[in-house]
Amino acid sequence: MDDCIFCRIARGEVGADIIDERPNAIAFRDVNPQAPVHVLIVPKQHIPQLKDLGPDRCEVLGDIFSLANDVAVSEGIGQTGYRIVCNIGEEAGQEVDHLHFHLLGGRFMKWPPG
Ligand code: AMP
Repeated sequence: MDDCIFCRIARGEVGADIIDERPNAIAFRDVNPQAPVHVLIVPKQHIPQLKDLGPDRCEVLGDIFSLANDVAVSEGIGQTGYRIVCNIGEEAGQEVDHLHFHLLGGRFMKWPPG
């Protein structure tokens, strides 16, 4: 997707505070952080939603979650706890139509989420 903001970040066309990456995924800080640590974990390939990630692309999810795990440790929240959120569709509040996982931590979280 030529104009997708997360595709453009993954291609290096738009600046972002990139923390780390894997062959299939990249981690960068959210521009509008909702917690002291708020990192987006994003597949490099354009995948609109979770339903578009077929079983033949398990390596993408593997890279996403191994990256999330390492970022949580490097950001100092691996022991204190953190939350991984994936908003899917309008009612969940998905604003960017490129699959992404929010890694949030560094403060106490409420449940249920709003
Ligand atoms: P969602 O509501 O789940 O689609 O979340 C989209 C997230 O992307 C929001 O938290 C935005 O703050 C974040 N975001 C949008 N554009 C950028 C950008 N250029 N760099 C970093 N984060 C962004």
